[in-house]
Amino acid sequence: MTKRVVLIGHPVAHSLSGAMHQAAFDAAGIDAAYELWDRAPIELPGAIAEVRDDEFLGANVTIPHKERVVPLVDRLTEEAQATGAVNTLTREGRRLVGHNTDVAGFEVALDRLVGRQKMPRHAVILGAGGGARAVVFGLIRAGFQRVVVFNRHLHRAEALVKHFSRSAAHMELRAMPWHPSIIESEIDKTKVLVNATSIGLTQDESPIPADIIPADLLVLDLIYSRTRFLRDAEAAGCTAMDGEAMLLHQGAAAFTLWTGQEAPLEVMSEALAAARADGLRSAEGEPTGLEGSRVGGTETGAAEAVSAEAGDGGPGADAAGDGDDAGSGSPAVTASAG
Ligand code: NDP
Repeated sequence: MTKRVVLIGHPVAHSLSGAMHQAAFDAAGIDAAYELWDRAPIELPGAIAEVRDDEFLGANVTIPHKERVVPLVDRLTEEAQATGAVNTLTREGRRLVGHNTDVAGFEVALDRLVGRQKMPRHAVILGAGGGARAVVFGLIRAGFQRVVVFNRHLHRAEALVKHFSRSAAHMELRAMPWHPSIIESEIDKTKVLVNATSIGLTQDESPIPADIIPADLLVLDLIYSRTRFLRDAEAAGCTAMDGEAMLLHQGAAAFTLWTGQEAPLEVMSEALAAARADGLRSAEGEPTGLEGSRVGGTETGAAEAVSAEAGDGGPGADAAGDGDDAGSGSPAVTASAG
């Protein structure tokens, strides 16, 4: 019997993950079909209940359900618990396990970005959504000592910091208001700069002005195309990398969880490139928008730049359900013990 794996999101039209995973199943000789399920939040509990059946190998969970799915599963892995977000489900009989493979994907991207240099200890993250949560946990595990999170809606960054208060108790994790002068001052003190906002996904815009990016930063954009932010960073003299490695490796980790087999990375990478060339759209149904080659982060050299991923969120999505006030004027919060 053909096993089923589903991507549950809203919307999920034209997901690139479908192409990536179907190619992987086919190459590995696994009789499985990857399906896209567009389910509104009210339909999520029913969809999760369905996935408990024997015919399912598991599922991916994407915008806007990554945090909402947490109370619907029976067990969370360390990464899912730590981030408060789930992007992959596996079955243990009728029980469901929630995983967060975005963390593993980010860790591959970070290692590649840092290369042979000593792992830095200070990072600035722009954005506080589901992707940012995986980034923060990856940085904590990599031994970072100071991580500053800027978000348009400060309360969301504050909620993120609060969520990590225990795992970041030994370090300084701060939420700061989205003001260019404060961002500039923090960027001047950092070595690693990550764009975890969706700015640049569908429009040629950068989250920050080009002239506040100093040279010699290690810069990662979770978006996997050659965004304005990455172009500005390169022009400033930074080492810049897009989100393709993260996308590929979160998918590879999910594949292994479902099948127990090593993921065919080359096949998955080529499938992503082909899907993009065919003009497929992101998991959110948004146009891939930005054409052009990757700045960095090439896994196999086969894929060109692609845009969005199984677990990404659309602009303005507030999957954490933290409210919608701008939070301006609030003092920075910190998870630091000291
Ligand atoms: P969410 O919807 O959860 O978060 C979106 C983030 O972008 C929030 O911080 C939001 O701020 C911010 N944002 C959106 N529009 C604006 C704006 N106009 N001005 C300022 N801030 C804005 O999405 P995710 O965290 O899941 O994804 C974020 C990005 O990361 C996406 O582009 C996604 O494609 C990418 N991603 C890539 C992955 C990969 O494997 N390469 C993995 C995960 C994500 P606010 O809270 O104030 O609305």
